[in-house]
Amino acid sequence: MAFITINKENFYHNLNQIALKTGSADKIAIVLKDNAYGHGLELMAKLASEFGIKHAVVRKKAEADAIRSLFQTILVLGDTIIKDKVCSFAINSLEDIEQAQKGAKVELKVDTGMHRNGIALDELEEALRSIKEKGLELIGVMTHFRSADELSSELFWQQKRFEAVKESVKNAGFTNIRFHSYNSAAILRMKSFDEDLVRVGIGAYGYSELPVPFDEAPLKPVLTLYAKKVATRVLKKGQRVGYGGDFTAPKKMTVSTYDLGYGDGWCRGDSSKPYITAEGLPVLGRVSMDFIALESDKEELCVMNDAQEAAKQFGTISYEITTALNSDIEKSVI
Ligand SMILES: *Cc1c(COP(=O)(O)O)cnc(C)c1O
Repeated sequence: MAFITINKENFYHNLNQIALKTGSADKIAIVLKDNAYGHGLELMAKLASEFGIKHAVVRKKAEADAIRSLFQTILVLGDTIIKDKVCSFAINSLEDIEQAQKGAKVELKVDTGMHRNGIALDELEEALRSIKEKGLELIGVMTHFRSADELSSELFWQQKRFEAVKESVKNAGFTNIRFHSYNSAAILRMKSFDEDLVRVGIGAYGYSELPVPFDEAPLKPVLTLYAKKVATRVLKKGQRVGYGGDFTAPKKMTVSTYDLGYGDGWCRGDSSKPYITAEGLPVLGRVSMDFIALESDKEELCVMNDAQEAAKQFGTISYEITTALNSDIEKSVI
């Protein structure tokens, strides 16, 4: 089977870089949704907890249940809102408040401009009133930036709106509320940080999709993907490889099949612009469901050690490359 190694040192390096920005590891909430961006939910939760991270963010309650002993708080972004000791639940709409279980811990998401989730600014008063009436425990208020990773002033007007939201929440008499709006791009680009929490996903895993002009913290990729050899053959000049025979051997060459394919979540791509592995080998012909062909006879090959670099080759972003990787690919910590 293809396998993944997780570089603990690099993960801790990234968390340290972010802690330097927040001033403390206590202010980091590690985002572990979607199998920790493909890195392995329980494994990454354990490492983060050992580092001293006390807060986590996931999508579903089931993910929170798998790691609940490791964190003080776990924010569940999108699931049924119920009463729970460790979990708080994001409120994404006024209907969410109606359907929430009495006594549940909630964090109100306010739409300051992304127009994806969260209550509208002019619904804020009503939302706060309903939260009180319904007997929910409001522990946080949050927003999400639509353009934290772009060179523009967009982030700043959203921030300004969120400052006004904070005032309204305080004026409504709520206390002990944690306010948070920053994701990785925001914490990496901003010089100052004065909120209670930063929700860090991609940055912790070693990537930044910020454009070059931001002088950001150096991050190191955490995940490396390897494939194992299945079979080797010597091709004669003119013999063709794989489905459709898209690759023709230009000379006599030694070619092996390796056990990674789109069934494992590896990108199929376009065989006319073959992916070049971390070791500099172009994938020969089409990617199969479970196999790729490479000119090598090594037992194991490193297919990728930098998802951002791979993403460039496939015309996508690092997030998509790592989250697509199947959760059953074996992982070990190095
Ligand atoms: C996924 C997510 C994050 C993390 O974003 P990164 O860009 O990976 O740091 C933060 N906040 C919310 C609400 C999210 O859904």
